Amino acid sequence: MRLSQMLFVTLREDPAEAEIPSHKLLLRAGYIRRIGSGIYAYLPLMWRVLKKVSQIVREEMDATGAQECLLPQLQPADLWRESGRWDTYTQAEGIMFAMTDRQQRELGLGPTHEEVITTIAKDMIRSYRQLPLHLYQIQTKFRDEIRPRFGLMRGREFIMKDGYSFHTNEESLKKTYQDMAQAYSNMLRRSGLQFRAVDADSGAIGGSGSQEFMVLAEAGEDEVLYTEDGQYAANVEKAVSMPADVEPSPFASFEKRETPGTETIDKLCKFLKCSPTQVVKNVLYQAVYDNGITVLVLVSIRGDQDVNQVKLLNELTKLAGNYQAKTVLFLTVPDAEAQRKWAAKSLPLGYMAPDVADDYIAGSKEVNSKFLRLVDRTAVDLTNFVTGSNESGYHVVGANWNKEFPLPATVVGVRTAKKGDRAVHNPEQTLQSARGIEVGHIFQLGTKYSQAMGATYTSEQGEEMPFVMGCYGVGVSRLAQSAVEQSYDKDGIIWPVAIAPYHAIISIPNISDPQQVEVAEKLYAELNQSGIETLLDDRDERAGVKFKDADLIGIPYRIVPGRSLKTGKVEVVERATHKSHEILVDEVNSTLKQWIEAAIN
Ligand code: ATP
Ligand code: MG
Repeated sequence: MRLSQMLFVTLREDPAEAEIPSHKLLLRAGYIRRIGSGIYAYLPLMWRVLKKVSQIVREEMDATGAQECLLPQLQPADLWRESGRWDTYTQAEGIMFAMTDRQQRELGLGPTHEEVITTIAKDMIRSYRQLPLHLYQIQTKFRDEIRPRFGLMRGREFIMKDGYSFHTNEESLKKTYQDMAQAYSNMLRRSGLQFRAVDADSGAIGGSGSQEFMVLAEAGEDEVLYTEDGQYAANVEKAVSMPADVEPSPFASFEKRETPGTETIDKLCKFLKCSPTQVVKNVLYQAVYDNGITVLVLVSIRGDQDVNQVKLLNELTKLAGNYQAKTVLFLTVPDAEAQRKWAAKSLPLGYMAPDVADDYIAGSKEVNSKFLRLVDRTAVDLTNFVTGSNESGYHVVGANWNKEFPLPATVVGVRTAKKGDRAVHNPEQTLQSARGIEVGHIFQLGTKYSQAMGATYTSEQGEEMPFVMGCYGVGVSRLAQSAVEQSYDKDGIIWPVAIAPYHAIISIPNISDPQQVEVAEKLYAELNQSGIETLLDDRDERAGVKFKDADLIGIPYRIVPGRSLKTGKVEVVERATHKSHEILVDEVNSTLKQWIEAAIN
């Protein structure tokens, strides 16, 4: 492609709308253009990158025996009602764009395709003989994200590869899952990314496992905890570790103490001269279940620990049956306004005890009249502990479970693991922390969707059995941008060769020099012909401007037919290192071929 004929517009200044380097660079270098919140046009250079990433993804998927298809983006609400997700997706989470057609039928724009694929399997897979089966697609997804940001990282319209596998048993699912873990590692490695596979939360879906593929970068929205020995890595939402040891309690007998102005653990411990490991703190949450019932949840946890809301949400989902519900719609720390809706009187916030009375709650049809009391494992074994007294300005010390306070019946593990904690697999290893961008997520779903939608096959024994399922997603457009987030310098983007929009760019320093033009044209034709994707900067611009643009758009090799033509050579500059080579015109093709092959494999 000739730059003189391309839509080629670069910006010198950072656009105000962008916060992180990759977003700024993709805008400045003319790869993407914002059309609306979370909505981007992929301009020609970006589209080439996306096609390359898609091709790598496709090759790795095909190699596992998965088959590509293309599913509809318009999805009938009825399918989502069958799985029980319509209300959650369109209202509670609100992530799905919903609409009504001219015949008053409700439809959604696909944020994901479990429902569509399960209905296909239900219709078309009759017998165990047709299993296992794995279908995937590469397609635009729609999600009405609460906070679209960072360009393609969190868009409302983005490209995803999503695959779904069907099995007769867990063992077969595990095999495909392992194949996918390998395929995902291959995709990311081939795309030139540094990444880590981590244990991930599988949320309410349960199943026996899920892993996320994290591209390591400061701008990542996720925190990854890992150990140096390479034996453990997990998303903080899921991570486990050993809490610090408990310090012995300085309090030998139970007493109520005046502790003015100590609504935080820090202030309390300073005031009482004790360790936070000797405090039972009681944290209030408000859960709204899918039947509209609000439940007030009191979590008692050791003072030096924090509640992990993802883990808590999973526990509350398990308890949904107790409230005649299926799932939790919202989990929040109730602010003053939320409290006004159910508090019968003002709560002793900062001074609550594990036995804070239920009459603080004005029960109603929508509000359960009793606290759901949970105790985290870290608080269970404490003795002679400090905790609230249910009276503002006072705490109790020297308290014991089942003496002064009944131990809550439900013991849960909801503490947040954090950097510096000892690892479970080896206490000599401590957890390290890194930021990651989630580019892929693989899931063992089990029978959640097949059961809900009545999708069954006939087993070898002649029984009707629900499919055992897995699902596997890669954010193709997010992956492409994360490559930039991991690889740029002050001059611009440095594309990994495998996904660069072009391999080389010939920048003619002076287009009125016929010799420069002649050599450039010859190389341009020759390189493209031999499969080296090459741009020709034949614009009537100063050499400096051309070099700056070539650096900004991040093409791996820049070829300059300049001064060295005297000796039959051109200058070839490597974008990543700025290293310059003088190469005989006749050897440019073979040299580049070698370099490109070495970089891609
Ligand atoms: P996140 O936690 O980042 O919201 P998710 O867990 O909802 O993502 P999945 O449903 O697992 O994402 O989707 C599979 C992949 O699609 C993700 O790993 C990510 O790479 C990509 N993805 C998800 N949401 C977006 C988005 N809004 N914009 C771009 N890519 C996305
Ligand atoms: Mg995810």
